[in-house]
Amino acid sequence: MGHPDEILVGGCWRRGTGDPFETRSPLTGAPLAELHGASPADVDEAVRAGAAAAADLAWRDLPPHRRARLLSRVADLVAERAEDLARLQTADTGKSINETRALVASAEGTFRYFAAALETLEGSLTPSRGPYVTLSVHEPIGVVGAITPWNSPIASDAQKVAPALAGGNAVVLKPAEWTPLVALALGRIVAAALADLGLPAGLMSVLPGPGPVAGEAIVRHPGVGKVSFTGGTATGRRIGALAAEKIMPVSLELGGKSPTIVFPDADREQALAGVMFGIFSSTGQSCIAGSRLFLHASIYDEFLDELVRRTGKLRIGPGDDPATQVAPMVAHAHRDRVAVMVDAAVAGGARVRCGGRAPDGPEYAAGAYYLPTILDGVPNDAPICQEEIFGPVLVALPFTDEDDLVAQANATVYGLACGIWTRDHRTAWRVARRVEAGTVWVNTYKQFSVSTPFGGMKESGLGREKGRDGILGYMRQKSVYWGTDEVLPWAG
Ligand code: NDP
Repeated sequence: MGHPDEILVGGCWRRGTGDPFETRSPLTGAPLAELHGASPADVDEAVRAGAAAAADLAWRDLPPHRRARLLSRVADLVAERAEDLARLQTADTGKSINETRALVASAEGTFRYFAAALETLEGSLTPSRGPYVTLSVHEPIGVVGAITPWNSPIASDAQKVAPALAGGNAVVLKPAEWTPLVALALGRIVAAALADLGLPAGLMSVLPGPGPVAGEAIVRHPGVGKVSFTGGTATGRRIGALAAEKIMPVSLELGGKSPTIVFPDADREQALAGVMFGIFSSTGQSCIAGSRLFLHASIYDEFLDELVRRTGKLRIGPGDDPATQVAPMVAHAHRDRVAVMVDAAVAGGARVRCGGRAPDGPEYAAGAYYLPTILDGVPNDAPICQEEIFGPVLVALPFTDEDDLVAQANATVYGLACGIWTRDHRTAWRVARRVEAGTVWVNTYKQFSVSTPFGGMKESGLGREKGRDGILGYMRQKSVYWGTDEVLPWAG
């Protein structure tokens, strides 16, 4: 996968000129790699090279179906190196190997999907209202910045890089400092695909480095025409404010505090499994984690007791063991932050139904482990019910009638996702339409399809990713009026 202390600056692999930093194993705490991050000067070089590459006729004039070949080539290379990519991501993020294999497959699928979408990309002839033909065309933006978090690196990187390249742009990707390795590996793959097809190398840059330095330099750079960001709401607000100064479009995929609702008539087995998977898979480090469980009062005690019993049986272990269900968290510092939030909730009156601490035992001593945790006994306006924890922590809340439920579910600044478990399709439909969430799952949870738009409402974000129209988010629209009449109004 190349020398780890090299970043991709406008098509050239070299050491960054920013401060050095380490990425550490969540399993052992030992350093995995030391890198020199990207400095603002590196960002400037990458953006200039990107702008030149985007304007290069070899790329700019390439018809969409030929651009599609680049994405297909990237998909092929991701597939060829799938196991290495999954293992690298498990090493860097701590995630279970089953999950990282799925994320790599998702990244491959994303490149294939956008390649296929490119084959059928259309402009439109708009209805003419005079002696002219009117067309609406979409054109590349130029250089696009993509800033991604640490929780599902290769999938979130692909979700931005694929449609941005499909739109005919150059991409400057900034992965999170905690997990830079797989983005650099993806950079090598895109660079190889560009070389295979004789396309300009400057179309791809991968610039790890601290967000406030490398990330902000990308957002502020006058040569960057759009930023697509996934991360926390506070960072998203900052990026949105910087973008507003430049009048630059941004898409923001931000945090969540998603409700999962279980009605008394739900299929109990499915709901139990779905609620556990919704919060504890990815060790809860998921923007869409179903972190608030609303249980109808008539089933509250019985359902919660069984959920606690099953949660206690989840297999906790290292990410590289395929039997592991709950792997270490991404970093010891993040695990400690989660522990502080849970301790504060308990001090504020929350009852620990299970977990609430790191697991005992020498095999867990070095890793960033935290037990799957279920709390209850606090109202929906308690901080633990309102703040995104980004860890394996579920809070259970009772509800009685539907209006009360919808009011509680919506009483949060977030609006990312929602799960509904019921056998009554009318109840599901009514609640799905009333809940403020960008994605609603009915009798399932955390399923993803690249062909279905994804994004948040309220402080969970702005804009949508995925879907056929995902490419258009990385393009600029232009209208063309083509006169068909020889006589213009002021002609002599
Ligand atoms: P952060 O917002 O801290 O970081 C996300 C990315 O932004 C990182 O690459 C980070 O760099 C960078 N960054 C940080 N500060 C700035 C800045 N001032 N300017 C530009 N870039 C900056 O989020 P986390 O890494 O903690 O990720 C977890 C968050 O991501 C959660 O809130 C989660 O909900 C959200 N998320 C949302 C998803 C969605 O699709 N809605 C999906 C996945 C996660 P660095 O870390 O290197 O400093």
